Amino acid sequence: MQGNMMDVQLTVPTILERIRTQYAAREVVSLLVAGRDEQGNPVAHKHRTTYGQVADRALRLAAGLLGLGLQPGDRVATLAVNSFRHLEAYLGVPSAGLVLHTVNIRLHPEQIAWILNHAEDRVLLIENVFAAMIPALKAACPKLEHIFVLGPTPQPIPLPGVADYDTFVGDSAPLARYPQIQETDAAAMCYTSGTTGNPKGVVYTHRSTLLHSMVSAPKDALNVGEADSVLPIVPMFHVNAWGLPYTCAMYGAKQVYAGVFADGRSVASLLRDEQVTITAGVPTIWMGLLGELDRAAADGQPYDLSRVERMIVGGSAAPESMIRAFSDRHGLSLLQAWGMTETHPLGTASGVPAGVDPTSDEGFALRAKQGRTVPLIELEILSDDGQRLPHDGKTMGRLITRGPWVANSYFKGEGQSNFFDLDGQLWFDTGDIATLDERGYMHIQDRAKDLIKSGGEWIGSVDLENAIMAHPAVAMCAVIAMDDPKWDERPLAIVVPRPGQTVTHDALTEFIAPKFAKWWLPDATVVTDQLPIGATGKILKRELRDQYRGYSSN
Ligand code: ADP
Repeated sequence: MQGNMMDVQLTVPTILERIRTQYAAREVVSLLVAGRDEQGNPVAHKHRTTYGQVADRALRLAAGLLGLGLQPGDRVATLAVNSFRHLEAYLGVPSAGLVLHTVNIRLHPEQIAWILNHAEDRVLLIENVFAAMIPALKAACPKLEHIFVLGPTPQPIPLPGVADYDTFVGDSAPLARYPQIQETDAAAMCYTSGTTGNPKGVVYTHRSTLLHSMVSAPKDALNVGEADSVLPIVPMFHVNAWGLPYTCAMYGAKQVYAGVFADGRSVASLLRDEQVTITAGVPTIWMGLLGELDRAAADGQPYDLSRVERMIVGGSAAPESMIRAFSDRHGLSLLQAWGMTETHPLGTASGVPAGVDPTSDEGFALRAKQGRTVPLIELEILSDDGQRLPHDGKTMGRLITRGPWVANSYFKGEGQSNFFDLDGQLWFDTGDIATLDERGYMHIQDRAKDLIKSGGEWIGSVDLENAIMAHPAVAMCAVIAMDDPKWDERPLAIVVPRPGQTVTHDALTEFIAPKFAKWWLPDATVVTDQLPIGATGKILKRELRDQYRGYSSN
């Protein structure tokens, strides 16, 4: 028997309509670049607008793009920082039946051109601070017909086909009627950051965007509601800023954007001045903020961050020591979340079960794991020969996932081996190695390619790194495999000390030894002054492995 409910399509225009009709007065705050100081550093100007104005301009953008002759499904790329203009594109482009393609601004220009060509983007919205790239991109990307510059446009405009975004938006009349959009149509696309090979395109549907927003908001997930003020530091080019621009708009939360100002001082000031309740970023951002909060407290002028309820951390593992430091020293609560470009990204969030005190030892240990799934996401761990492994919190396996906002393939059908059938259902192989426990807590041990295989057994680098990072003299750490004639591979710790501190292999070994089996402990420690960081803020282990190939502890 069929049910009798309406088949209303889940599409992005429904979010745009909510901010236009219900939340028009709610604010959107952006830090824009006003100029440069004498050292060449950007100087911030705080821009304030409302959802009402964002909605109006998004509709003008939508109409303007369609007026250029773009066809349903055509891609509109952005090379932009977090700001209200990027938010207009988030809402306006999919509402025109077009596909928002957010491109990572930290990639090399050649990689950017490769991605623009691969996606066959017809339009590019580019931040004025990156305008110098325009001639090279125009030359390398023949399919790119129109480029609009976000923010004050350098005059004279460098090339034909390049125009000022604000003028374009201002000159267009708002879209009068949304085009027919099916919920399975593409709304947005993102490329994986390529830490595991060539970037691959992941295409989000309107439906996956809406469902992801709905599931992200509740209390046990990101806890977003109308009364909130949300500062996503995670870039809008990185998995749609973890979906927050859409989630906040859907529920009417104020949005605050830091633009290029992601240093500890700017972030702390924004959190305080905009009365931010929820913020989100990768661990490196929070390490920067922690330093600034410690400094201010030591100077007797602590920031008043009493409104901050939740700091979401993801993208790579958050060390327990960091979660404790924020809690103990500043009364701030970090919530770890896990996901990937391919999962839109929210897969798990690491709140504590009912009855567990989040600041007890058990609470901190659970919060340092990646957490339990949000509704509708499934996880399993598999052995190398594809057998399901026990959820006992100990057995490590290859993490696989499925759900309504998990990709079923990559753009143009690439990388098909990551998608496979298990017992008649489609699953995605994350490439992560994890444990699952009896309560459903997932704990990432490593990326499969980063695992250390010692004497036929696996050693996960993530726990070792987190334990080493808890040492007060350590600022950053990566553990990689080094070749070993007897065991094949053994762990090598590469450590950046805090300024003015020294670290030795013996001291670190003694510090972490109580937490690990003896054969897990690194055989050697290299002290260096920096680690290579990739475009999404993660340590580039591939580069470290190349650099330390042939390194020996003897
Ligand atoms: P890329 O795959 O190109 O690095 P993604 O942003 O899609 O880019 O990264 C997803 C990966 O990031 C996950 O597969 C996982 O390895 C890692 N990751 C994300 N969140 C966490 C987390 N909370 N803890 C540990 N690892 C994480």
